[in-house]
Amino acid sequence: MRAVIGLEIHVQISEAGTKLFCDCRADYRGLEPNTNVCPVCLGLPGALPVVNRRAVELALAASIAFKCSIPKYIVFTRKHYFYPDLPKNYQISMFERAGGIPICKGGVVTFPDPSTWEWRECRVRRINIEEDPGRTEYEEGGITRSPYALVDYNRSGVPLLEIVTEPDLRSPREARSLVEYLMLTLEYLGVTNPRLEGVFRVDANVSIEGGERVEVKNIGSTLDVEKALTYEIARQTMIVKGGGRVERETRHWDAARGVTRPLRHKEYEEEYLYFPDPDLPPILLRDEMIEKASKLAEESPRKYFEMVTGMMIPKDLAWSIVTVKHSALLFMKSVKLGADPQVAARIIAVDYKGELRELGRDPHDPRNWPPPETIYALSKLVTENVYTYDAVKGLMLPKIASNPTIDVSSIVLEKAENLESIIDEVLRAEEKAVKDYLSGKSQALNYLVGAVIRKIGKRAVDPRAIRRAVEERLRKT
Ligand SMILES: [Zn+2]
Repeated sequence: MRAVIGLEIHVQISEAGTKLFCDCRADYRGLEPNTNVCPVCLGLPGALPVVNRRAVELALAASIAFKCSIPKYIVFTRKHYFYPDLPKNYQISMFERAGGIPICKGGVVTFPDPSTWEWRECRVRRINIEEDPGRTEYEEGGITRSPYALVDYNRSGVPLLEIVTEPDLRSPREARSLVEYLMLTLEYLGVTNPRLEGVFRVDANVSIEGGERVEVKNIGSTLDVEKALTYEIARQTMIVKGGGRVERETRHWDAARGVTRPLRHKEYEEEYLYFPDPDLPPILLRDEMIEKASKLAEESPRKYFEMVTGMMIPKDLAWSIVTVKHSALLFMKSVKLGADPQVAARIIAVDYKGELRELGRDPHDPRNWPPPETIYALSKLVTENVYTYDAVKGLMLPKIASNPTIDVSSIVLEKAENLESIIDEVLRAEEKAVKDYLSGKSQALNYLVGAVIRKIGKRAVDPRAIRRAVEERLRKT
C-alpha cells in the first residue's frame, strides 16, 4: 500500500561549544550527573538567558544549505509543558505562529538514492532552534515499573535543530536515506557530530491510503527509522485489509522489541501556550552573520561527491570516500599534492579503510588516517612502478594503519637483513634459472628476483634494490 511519510528530526548542534543560553558545555557526555549545570539551565529564579551566537550561526548555515528562506530576524518562543526534566516548565523553542519566527521556512533537502545514484528531493517545512531538556532515567522496568526516577540536567539547554519535512517520502528506505544524508550534511557544515550517543532523534508521521496519520516517536538511529516505519506500515496495512480504520494517534518506537506501542496522550499545539520569550529580544540576522554562515554552507557531501566522480572515480567508490568526511578531505588534499586519483581512491576508499576495520579502528577519527603526504608518496610508488599496487596494499598499508604518522620512506627503504645470504641460497637452489640467465635469457632474472622476494617474506622491501643486488651477485658468478 502507498505510504506517505514526513519526518521531524531533532539534531543537537553539538559543535556549538556551549549550551544555547548559558556557558555550560554542549558536550555533556561522560560527566557526573548534574555537574554541567548553572542557574540558567537549571531554570533558577532570576536567571536570564543569553543566546549562543555560534549556535545561531550554525543553524543559519543549515538553513542556507537547505535553501530555506531566511527571515530578517528570529524570535524565540516559550513552549509550556510540565515534566521533571524541564526545570523552567517551558522550553525555549521557535514557532511560526503566536509571534514566533523560526530560522528557516520552506527549504529542500536533496539526497541520493545509493542504489540508483539519483538525487531525490524532500521539502523542508521549517527549521527551529530550541533547547534540549534534561534526561529522566528510570530503574530497570522503565517508566511503568520503576519505583522512582532520576533526573540529570547535564543535557538541559543543549542547542537543538528541529527540522520538519513535508510528507514527501514514500518508503522506509527513502526516509532512512534522507536522515543519513541530512546528518552527513550537518557534519560537513560543522554543525554536529553524527556519531555522538543520542545526538539525534526522529519522530515520523506515517499514513497509508485510507487511513489517518500516525506519529511514531523516539526513533534513535537511521537503521531504526527504516525498521520503525516498516513495522508501522505493515501494522496499518493489516488494519485496513482487515476492514478496520487506522486512528490518528501517537505511538512510541520500542527499539528493543522492534514494535510501536500506543502512547496515552499527546498534547496538541494549542495546549502548549506558545508566546514570544520576553527575556530574549528578537535577534537580527546581520549581513556579516549570513555571509559567515553562507561560507560554512558551501561545504556539502554532494559537492565532494561531484568533485571525486569528476576525476573518473566510480560512484560507489566516491560515495565510500565522501561518507567519511575526513577521508574526503584527505583524498582532495592528496590529489592536490599530485597523487593519482585512481590509486588514492583505491587506497582511501577500499584497502586502507579495510585495514582500519581489521584493527577495529574508527575510520571517522582523523587520528587514524595518515597525512596526505603519505597517500601521495604511496601513489607515486605505484605510478612509478617501484611497487605494484598489491605490494603497497599487502606490505605497507598494514604498517601505516597501525602507525598512521609513520614516515613512508622508513618502510620503503627498509632492507631485508642478511640479503646477501638469502640471494646466495636462492641462486644455489635455482641452478637452472641461473644457467638460463648466464646464457643470455634475461627474463630469468625476473624469476630469480621474485624467488628472493618470496624468501624474504612479508617484510617491506624495495624490489628495485633487490634486482640490483641479484644482478650484481650474478655478475660475480
Ligand atoms: Zn548552564
